[in-house]
Formats: sequence, C-alpha cells, structure tokens
Amino acid sequence: MTEESSLNTPPVESHEPKSVLRPAPTLAMVIPCYNEEPVLEQTAHVLAEKLSDLIRTEEIDNRSFILFVDDGSQDNTWRIAEKLHTSKPELFHAIKFSHNRGHQNAVYAGLMTSLSNGCDAAISMDADLQDDPNAIDKMVASYRKGDEIVYGVRNNRDTDTIFKRMTAESFYKLMTWMGADTIPDHADFRLMSKMAIQALSEYSEANLFLRGIVPSLGFKSDRVYYKRGVRAAGESKYPLSKMISFALEGITSFSVKPLHLITTTGFLSVVIGIVMLIYTIVSVCTGNAIAGWGSLMFSLWIIGGLILVSLGIVGEYIGRIYIETKHRPRYIIETEI
Ligand code: UDP
Ligand code: MG
Repeated sequence: MTEESSLNTPPVESHEPKSVLRPAPTLAMVIPCYNEEPVLEQTAHVLAEKLSDLIRTEEIDNRSFILFVDDGSQDNTWRIAEKLHTSKPELFHAIKFSHNRGHQNAVYAGLMTSLSNGCDAAISMDADLQDDPNAIDKMVASYRKGDEIVYGVRNNRDTDTIFKRMTAESFYKLMTWMGADTIPDHADFRLMSKMAIQALSEYSEANLFLRGIVPSLGFKSDRVYYKRGVRAAGESKYPLSKMISFALEGITSFSVKPLHLITTTGFLSVVIGIVMLIYTIVSVCTGNAIAGWGSLMFSLWIIGGLILVSLGIVGEYIGRIYIETKHRPRYIIETEI
C-alpha cells in the first residue's frame, strides 16, 4: 500500500502476508516390493487415485509417478509391475533388482532413480498399505511450505503384538542412548525433497540404515502423524531374524559405544580377577584352598563368557569394515521401464 493511498482510504485490518508456497512438485512414490503379489494391484490402485486427486487439486505436478522397486521377488510381483507399466506408462515405473538386497537398499535405489528421473520430491512407502495414503496430502503440504524432509510417525501400535511393541520401544531407547538420532515410531514412510535425496546420495556406506542417516542429514523437517493399519494382504517380510539383523545394523553402523563398553567391562573383569587372586593366595596360606574352588570356577565361566561376548561385538564391527572395504555395488538393476 502506497503512502498516498493510505491517506485516502480508511485504515483496513492488516493481513499477515501469505507465505509463499513452493510450486507443485513432481512427486515420485517409491514402493519397495518383496513378494508383494497379493497386494500390489490394490496398492497401485489406491496410490493412483491418491496421485490423481493431488494432481486435480494442483498440489503436485501431473508428471508425478509411482515407482515400484522389485527387491528380487520370486513371485509374480514383477509381472504385475510390468502389466501396470503397460497400462499407464507415464504413471507406473518400475525397477527390478537381480536378487533380494533388502528393504533399505530397495528404498535407496528408488530414491536415486526418482532423482535421475527428474522428480522434485519422493515419498517412500511400504507396499502393503500399512502406511496411511491420506498422510501423503499433509506431507506434500509440508514440503510446499518449505520442509525438505517430512517424517511419517505412527501414533498407534495396537496392530502390533506386545512383543513387537516392547522390542521396538527398547530399540528406539537404545539407539538414542547409543547416540544415533532416530525418530521414534517412524519407519521408512517419509517425504524427501530433491535436495535431501541429493545429500543422501553422498553416503556411500554399504551398511545402510536410513532411519539413522536421514535425520543426520539435517535440513528443515516436519512430522506427520498417522494411524498405522494392518497389512492389506500377504504376510510380513520381516521375520524375527530379519528384525534382529536390522537392529544390529542400526547399532553397529551408527555407534562405537559397544566398543567402549568392552573396555569398561574389561577393566571391571581385571579388578575382579585381582580380588580373586588375593582371595586365592589368602585361602592357600590359611590352608583352606578347596573352599575357593567353587567361586573360582564360577568366575572362570563368567569371564570366559564376557570375553566371548566382547569378541562377538568386535567381530560385528570387523565384519562390517570388511564388507565396507569391498566397495561392492549396493545393488544391480536388471531392468528399468
Ligand atoms: N521389503 C523389501 N525387501 C525385503 C523385505 C521387505 O523390499 O527384503 C519391503 C516389503 O515389500 C514392504 C516393506 O519392505 O513393502 C516392509 O515390509 P513388511 O511390510 O513385510 O514389514 P513389516 O511391516 O511387517 O515390518
Ligand atoms: Mg508391513
């Protein structure tokens, strides 16, 4: 408002300047799929609807697409992806790994492929519709307001077993204690802008733990809360063994605290050993040597166990260093359509 006009017109209520939104992004939906034949078509349908809604309301660009990453499935997942691509080549894209490389690598590959296909932002989401597609709207809105990363955070765990709930909770606590910056109750349902994905591409480590790496990228971020549902079809691809190795991956790829623990425990063992030695000498001198036998055997086992556990932890790290020094390709893309 110019000075002149302000003199001639009656004062009007001042409005906050409207914050400038970023232009509607070309959005990629990155969907890792491992043997998702029972659910894939349903997921494709739900996501296609969601994208066309967002295109209609001009929240995203009409070049937005869905990218399936087939993580070496043995079932018909790839055939379904091909069929979807043939029906709508602009909307459905897909890449196929030559063998199973795990969820984290599949998400990473999808993000990198989206980047090379010219997207402005990408959302990674499970193939089983457990992540609420309606949260996508809020994620896009946060992006347009200027956030580079938007984390999907579940606000319920009632679809989980008590066991999964307890282990997940302890895991997040442990990770925080270990010094890794994770977002509690956030899995891999998140939006990343082009800039954030570019930053992620600088990470060349083979032990990929995105829930730790992404928060460590920094950038302006936001959280979107959603209710996590049950799997729409098929069964979980994360049995207990995979969950344990995933947790180990998280800890050992982010923290050297276990190594410090070994040192502390080692010192403690030495102190206990010295006390045992003094006790033994005293027992021998007083002629009661047999009395110490039990405690000695006991401590022998304890120390032996401690050494083994410590060696195990060190071994975890050495194993990872070993893999890291190989600089193997993270994945090999067989086909791209
Ligand atoms: N997934 C994958 N590779 C694997 C295991 C899982 O790409 O080796 C995908 C899977 O298809 C799904 C997502 O990762 O889209 C999450 O897996 P799932 O739903 O089985 O895990 P849960 O929700 O039971 O923890
Ligand atoms: Mg799931």
